Amino acid sequence: MARDGGLVAVRADRMVDVEAGEVRAGWVVLVRGERIEGRLDPARPLPEGAALVELPGHTLLPGLIDCHTHLVGELQGSGVPAIDRSAAQEALSGVGNARATLLAGFTTVRDVGTFRAFVDVALRDAIRDGTVAGPRMAVAGAGAYVTVPGGGGAVTGLAPDVELPRDLRFGEASSPAEVRQRVRAILYRGADLIKVIATGAVLALGTRPGAPELSPEELRAAVEEAAAHGAFVAAHAHGRQGILNAARAGVRSVEHGSLLDDEAAGVLAERGVYLVADIYNGDYIAEAGAAQGWPAETLAKNEATTQAQRDGFTRAVKAGVRIAYGTDSGVCPHGWNARQLPYMVRHGMTPMGAIRSATVVAAELLGWQDRVGALSPGRYADMIAVPGDPLDDVELLADVPFVMQGGRVLKWAGGDPRAVLSAGAPYFPA
Ligand SMILES: [Zn+2]
Repeated sequence: MARDGGLVAVRADRMVDVEAGEVRAGWVVLVRGERIEGRLDPARPLPEGAALVELPGHTLLPGLIDCHTHLVGELQGSGVPAIDRSAAQEALSGVGNARATLLAGFTTVRDVGTFRAFVDVALRDAIRDGTVAGPRMAVAGAGAYVTVPGGGGAVTGLAPDVELPRDLRFGEASSPAEVRQRVRAILYRGADLIKVIATGAVLALGTRPGAPELSPEELRAAVEEAAAHGAFVAAHAHGRQGILNAARAGVRSVEHGSLLDDEAAGVLAERGVYLVADIYNGDYIAEAGAAQGWPAETLAKNEATTQAQRDGFTRAVKAGVRIAYGTDSGVCPHGWNARQLPYMVRHGMTPMGAIRSATVVAAELLGWQDRVGALSPGRYADMIAVPGDPLDDVELLADVPFVMQGGRVLKWAGGDPRAVLSAGAPYFPA
């Protein structure tokens, strides 16, 4: 029961057509090799000789996409990140995190930064060449982000006379010219996108989430330089002014967007800037932070942004902002990525809207709509199935028993695989 390359027919009770925003009963997805070849409505016969994957009682969806992960390293805690671990240790943690993410049904991620520069580039490449099981990755590369020195993307909390090695402050910049230089250096070393820090951060000690950091001129320099190299910019921004600065500078996405007011929501909608708001994460930080004794400063900043961010999210939904799914996993645990879906429904999205944000909309943000994000011909055969109907209950997506990536079934946790996979079905348990 392990073959690559032949025709495979995948059939569940329902298939979610995220492009149309419709659920299609009994449709079959045809897979050849690593790509989707076609779809059949239930009136059409199955092609002769195709191997079968039959998932009665299940709903088939495209593999999910998380646009804000940090797969490299251990979960972020209260200490100074990454300084007591080597790049090799950080990478090996990333191997486990990548696998947990994939087996949770997230077959693609946009990974928005590591503390040690370019460990994410190495992880992406190891997944791409098959050495490591993990989601397809678009990565931001830079050590500690493109940030002002000591700002929201810097490794902070050290004594002032301790100097960090270069790979932990690779993206620090203090002028538009330095920003351009850093952006070039990051892209030349293999990053797919640029992550800039437009405001302070909840978890970076000494910085204020509401305060702008990189200037409008520096943000514009990042966007222009990235565009010259065919790349987009994602901007971390909590505060209103930082959100506006980033959106007006032409960034592709605003991350967090915690203090988003109506004006800022209007600017994002008008300019087509994506919002990636991690509206589950605040609950996790409050709980883990209290249990593990995180600094009072961090917990206070988290409290000041959590509900505000959810209110801003609702404003953004109403204003018609494009919302792409992103969780900040790496702060919250890897593999818990789907826990945010019910939060998005609670705060103004329809279940279909939330699922679209984690599939077809996320693929558009990545510029990868030719390869992931929908069960349509030509895209990679990345798909998941859950029992029941996730349009009735998006919480079902937090426990995914079936994962296919690139045409290979990597996970079946619903009983004997022989009950759902015919002879010749490409079964490669990860
Ligand atoms: Zn993050």
